[in-house]
Amino acid sequence: GLARNTSPLPQPVKIPEIKHTKIFINNEWHTSIKGKKFPTINPATGVKICDVEEADKADVDEAVRAARAAGQRGSEWRQMDASSRGRLLHRLADLLERERLNHIIKTLRYYAGWTDKIHGKTMPVDENFVCFTKHEPVGVCGAIIPWNFPLLMFMWKIAPALACGNTVVIKPAEQTPLTALHTGALIKEAGFPPGVVNIVPGFGPTAGAAIGSHMNIDKVAFTGSTEVGQLIKAAAAKSNLKRVTLELGGKNPCIVFADSDLQSAVEETQKGAFFNQGQACTAASRVYVEEAVYDEFLRLSVERAKNIAIGDPLEPRTSHGPQINQHQFDKILELVASGKKEGATLECGGCAVEDRGLFIHPTIFSDVKDHMRIAKEEIFGPVQCIMKFKTQEEVIDRANGTQYGLTAAVFTRDIHRAMSVSAALEAGTVWVNCYNALHAQAPFGGYKMSGNGRELGEYALAEYTEVKAITLKLSERLT
Ligand code: NAD
Repeated sequence: GLARNTSPLPQPVKIPEIKHTKIFINNEWHTSIKGKKFPTINPATGVKICDVEEADKADVDEAVRAARAAGQRGSEWRQMDASSRGRLLHRLADLLERERLNHIIKTLRYYAGWTDKIHGKTMPVDENFVCFTKHEPVGVCGAIIPWNFPLLMFMWKIAPALACGNTVVIKPAEQTPLTALHTGALIKEAGFPPGVVNIVPGFGPTAGAAIGSHMNIDKVAFTGSTEVGQLIKAAAAKSNLKRVTLELGGKNPCIVFADSDLQSAVEETQKGAFFNQGQACTAASRVYVEEAVYDEFLRLSVERAKNIAIGDPLEPRTSHGPQINQHQFDKILELVASGKKEGATLECGGCAVEDRGLFIHPTIFSDVKDHMRIAKEEIFGPVQCIMKFKTQEEVIDRANGTQYGLTAAVFTRDIHRAMSVSAALEAGTVWVNCYNALHAQAPFGGYKMSGNGRELGEYALAEYTEVKAITLKLSERLT
């Protein structure tokens, strides 16, 4: 949580040894075919951590060849018992536990449990036929992931893909390749056959675009900006009509009714707005507060925001670190300036932390109007916009008045109101009296331009399987 913790905590490893900086194909480490590298920077200090081999189209081609071979008929991976596939995923989870990469393990174990429970149906077709379905792997699954949750996004992509028996070519974001590569080493150690998972660190317009338009990739899963999501879908359409799932941006509304537990609503909405410095597709960037409690909600929110512990993210007591890079930092401050110019009231923050590079103070705007840019555009920074509302009907329309539809939240003690507002909100996830309550078992994804398809839960399995209907003609009808 955001509150200062006073209990003793273990000391973090401040400068971990970086072991893996190369392209991971066929369970081996490769240098880039073009001989290029790119730096990885620690955004808290601006200091370069190391250089990483840069994958481009030719390296992606190699990775796809490896993934294709690993998943072909008769391969070790295709012949493996489904239950053994589950054991491999559990073994990877054990290794991640050993490395203390705990927060992603639940997703992996959840999908490890699914491997031998992915099955078809038998259909009561007419006449003397028997018809049943088989759920088969889609094939080679490409994945392109963002920098805001490097390891979590990696696992959300590979766990369901592998559970369903696919092979993977995954491109981490150029800002954050190291955790993915470290996990590559663990995938090899766990005993996955060569080529089942291939990791191609590199840039979007080169390595990323090569995945989107590849003729030999059967599906692509993308998380990132809506603009690039549109490029991916267009590239898929123009190449081989590969399947596409997209998890894109959000401008997620929270609705706080006067009858809610106000203190808790303040905490949850603020956690939603400032978690990961606002660099989350689920960021709670629009908070609609009912007139009667608006002033009190605002007062409590500002008080809380001013007490957030800013500092080195490797310090256990820090809850607010830097933005990812100069580009995002500049974009956030430009949007903050637009908020001031368009007449919103800056209640706190709104500027960089002095002498600290990419750090921005937690920022709250009040008197925000729906037409302002800060109320419409995804800021991807620590900026909470607080608006006033009068009626339930009005606030539902305003909450839905966006091209996005990823998450939303409602705060009320009235169960009937909670149910009717949840039903009316156009969003893939609605949280009631909580925020960012994500679970491996529950589907996650967007309405409207927030994306296509669902990740997590049983729903994600459908995105990673082809359904085959097998129909047999019998000599006579079964009785
Ligand atoms: P982005 O969409 O450009 O990057 C996400 C991933 O897509 C990265 O791996 C990147 O290399 C890749 N990519 C970029 N261009 C590509 C292309 N032409 N073809 C294929 N892949 C490509 O996001 P960004 O530039 O890092 O951030 C910009 C904005 O995107 C942010 O301000 C935020 O609004 C949004 N964003 C959303 C999420 C999310 O979780 N939904 C994550 C990151 C960024």
